[in-house]
Amino acid sequence: METKSYTLDDVRPSHRPMIIGGRDTEALSGATFTRFSPAHEVEVTSFPQGGVEDVDLAVRAARKALDGGWRHSSGSERSKLLLKVSALLRRDAEELALAETLESGKPITQSRSEVAGTAELWEYAATLARNTQGDSHNALGPDTLALVVHEPIGVIGMITPWNFPLLIISQKLPFALAAGNTAVVKPSESTSATTVMLGRLIREAGFPDGAVNIVTGDRVVGAAIADHPGIDMVSFTGSTGVGRGIAAAAGRDLKKVELELGGKNPQIITPNADFAAAVDAGVFGGYFNVGQCCNSGSRLIVHRSMAEEFAAAVVERAGHMKVGDPLQADTLVGSLVNDTQLAVVERYVAEGQAAGARLLAGGARLDIGQGGGRFFQPTVFTGVGAHMSIATDEIFGPVLSVLPYDTLEEAIAIANSTSYGLSAGIWSNDMNEALTAARELRAGTVWVNRWMDGYPEVPFGGYGQSGIGRELGRQALAEFSELKTIQLQVGKRETRWVDAPDAPRA
Ligand code: NAD
Repeated sequence: METKSYTLDDVRPSHRPMIIGGRDTEALSGATFTRFSPAHEVEVTSFPQGGVEDVDLAVRAARKALDGGWRHSSGSERSKLLLKVSALLRRDAEELALAETLESGKPITQSRSEVAGTAELWEYAATLARNTQGDSHNALGPDTLALVVHEPIGVIGMITPWNFPLLIISQKLPFALAAGNTAVVKPSESTSATTVMLGRLIREAGFPDGAVNIVTGDRVVGAAIADHPGIDMVSFTGSTGVGRGIAAAAGRDLKKVELELGGKNPQIITPNADFAAAVDAGVFGGYFNVGQCCNSGSRLIVHRSMAEEFAAAVVERAGHMKVGDPLQADTLVGSLVNDTQLAVVERYVAEGQAAGARLLAGGARLDIGQGGGRFFQPTVFTGVGAHMSIATDEIFGPVLSVLPYDTLEEAIAIANSTSYGLSAGIWSNDMNEALTAARELRAGTVWVNRWMDGYPEVPFGGYGQSGIGRELGRQALAEFSELKTIQLQVGKRETRWVDAPDAPRA
């Protein structure tokens, strides 16, 4: 993979139009908005500020593409197009990575990994496109054959967050296309560039005009998608609060909803753990993407006998991370995405201190000497109670809480004590202990002696307030499909219900 660093001299501000019906499109209102690099305070992109009417045009274009042939396209055709997108993503990987870093503030090396992971998702979805077969029933009786077939749901609205924009849209879009749907996509207003660039690659790959439409803008666009009667399903990734509102809006006309929401994910560290590996995962789980991950492992539930030693080791190791300019290839932790997120992190640090947790390290904004930027010190609290807001709420910043426990049952109870259930982990080389926890932890993903690995082949999603439905894996096709049962009469149908011509009608 590329190892190059960049400077601001490499940055050329660009305007990126929406894509509706295969065409570069400005907002009907003519309005635009601008995105600044959160790490550098320079303007990097401008976009059309879409509105309700633009969403309507996009929905019409998606419907036209669906009914104009895409829903009856062959799996082989879909698969080839998806593979082409994957190849184009690899071709333009560096340009995409730079755009992602400039808008999100994440290190360029992590943006490169995100693009590489995205190409894998399109490639994997291509394998599913040729495996949309359903079921048949041949033992329902001598005169009956039943077929169960998958059909596309229709036009899917997709609304995504800012933290992993390219990856998250690609956990939805290629799978929906593989199942024969079309889409109207709204990226986050903070990081829209790579989704619009992806839209151009989809067009270049040869997808029919209107199969994928991208409308840029703020919550007005998201709300218009959730409300639009021409949209058959909404697939949303974002915060739990917004997800609830989207589900309520979509519920008004009973659209199918798939929600990937927040998390407050626990890692249980037992005395039987590989200590160094668990410390490494603690640091990675807490500070990767400045803690702005739905899978952030922000609650470290550590056996009381080693809690202080473990916390000190996390602080020591975190001290080796370079926090700084995300354009530099040796930076491990970049900038928070915006001032709002910075203020949220500062508020939670103050709440943790007020609640009586001990601030072991960090807790303040970090000046890295480049002027501006929303950098924050890697932060660790110890002696955290399970009821404190730093232990129950998703902070979305570089803040780790260490919660001591005495028995495994207690550790599991603490782990399960929030309203979320996205992911969880246990560190133990005692397999009985590890398996007990793996079974009892209420989370969509449980990692045993590892943290935050993901694969296109395995489903991902949450329990409780972390969401509804699953992405990825072969199950993803079912999320984006309707099931239709077709019953066939074998041989002559006997008249059964009305025997005599003069029998009374029901
Ligand atoms: P957000 O909920 O604020 O915004 C997500 C998207 O919804 C954006 O495109 C935004 O413009 C849009 N939106 C905002 N308000 C809306 C409204 N009222 N109606 C319709 N659309 C609206 O989330 P965010 O701050 O962009 O992202 C962070 C959140 O995303 C965190 O909670 C994180 O846990 C979650 N997330 C979850 C996963 C997962 O897979 N479970 C992955 C990544 C991020």
